[in-house]
Amino acid sequence: MHPRQTAHAPEDSRNRNPPSHAPNGASTPHWLTVLDRELIACTRCPRLVEYREQIARVKRRAYRNCEYWGKPVPGFGDPDARVLILGLAPGAHGSNRTGRPFTGDASGKFMYPVLYETGFANQPNATDRNDGLKLKDLYITAAVRCAPPANKPTPQELANCSSFLDREIAGLNKVRVVVALGKIGFDAYLNYLKRKKMLQGRGSYLFKHGAHYRMPDGKVLLASYHPSNQNTQTGKLTRKMFVEIFKQAAKFADESIGAPPGGSSHLTPKSGVRPAKSGVTS
Ligand code: SF4
Repeated sequence: MHPRQTAHAPEDSRNRNPPSHAPNGASTPHWLTVLDRELIACTRCPRLVEYREQIARVKRRAYRNCEYWGKPVPGFGDPDARVLILGLAPGAHGSNRTGRPFTGDASGKFMYPVLYETGFANQPNATDRNDGLKLKDLYITAAVRCAPPANKPTPQELANCSSFLDREIAGLNKVRVVVALGKIGFDAYLNYLKRKKMLQGRGSYLFKHGAHYRMPDGKVLLASYHPSNQNTQTGKLTRKMFVEIFKQAAKFADESIGAPPGGSSHLTPKSGVRPAKSGVTS
């Protein structure tokens, strides 16, 4: 049995797929079903709507026989998770094709084996929505839910999509650790706290791989380089570094039990608002 399986409820009651393909959809909380339904129908960003649909029509040669998802991509994982991955946006031929985060692209090929090794996933591979993948104690979401050209959403598109993130974070009420993949994910969490009036500026919260901060909402924000090809092919992000991130996330999730929101911890000064320093794990 995988190590993390012993610590949690039976996995068949705690995992979900996108709603239109949810074999165990009965366990999906109502708020999440409603949220995902609205998300999938969203057309708020004209540039992204055009791009996601154009990619789905034109397709990449290697996937010409695939039916692309071509819509906003819902979050994926365990609604009772203590760890939340906050990524950037769907990949054009990855999750914009398959309809599930980090599924069917190089980033996912790098990430899911690490999640399996650290006990957050039941299998190392992620090819399509019906591949049997289940996450344990982990939920994956993104700052923007439609694939952006060149992986670069505009500030307006990030703002447009923020209401989905806010509702998701509110609903995922067991989350204790947010793993931000890349600076855009990191900033998306700071901006979420600003919208909630828990943060005024970005203060001394600096994005650096392995940096971790106790945030004013009591959660730990843990920064990681994004597992993009650009980072993994150049050695900027190695598998060892990424494994260490998720080992740290599991450790912080365990340590955070009973930590008061904004309370002091080894990660912050007594104010609980600003980090005295970031910890660097690798
Ligand atoms: S990025 Fe978000 S707000 Fe914009 S169209 Fe997609 S789902 Fe809607």
